[in-house]
Amino acid sequence: MQCTECEAPNRKLWVLFGEHRRPALADVQTGSWAVLQRCPTCRALWCLSPYEPYASFPFLALWPHDEARWRHSFAADDGRTLLAWHAFMVGKHYRSLPEPELGLVEQFRRRSCGHNPIDRPDTFHAADLPASTANVNQPLQATAATPHS
Ligand SMILES: [Zn+2]
Repeated sequence: MQCTECEAPNRKLWVLFGEHRRPALADVQTGSWAVLQRCPTCRALWCLSPYEPYASFPFLALWPHDEARWRHSFAADDGRTLLAWHAFMVGKHYRSLPEPELGLVEQFRRRSCGHNPIDRPDTFHAADLPASTANVNQPLQATAATPHS
């Protein structure tokens, strides 16, 4: 059953600029350039992050894990991996957005002169996200088996 407020779980992405209807969510965790929010209706978690220019192009991506994993992922490298995940979600799901959001994404692509997650995708693999809170007490290098350039 799709939530009437945030449209989870069918929807994975919201454009938060423009004049269309947007879900009213509550802040759960706040970090630099990323905020975890919860839908008051269905309890789904969403990750908000803004894009340049002027951080005026915020997107919401459906966070598929729990609150603790978001906090852990953010703390692992001050949000770097988390923001790469967010950019990956924008690139993966923007085509499924309804109008007028799809048109707003095209405006954003023009305004950002190619500096956006669609035209310049980060290399992100789902395995890059820190596994779970069960691993919090293990040394970080123990989970750093993925090769990075
Ligand atoms: Zn909801």
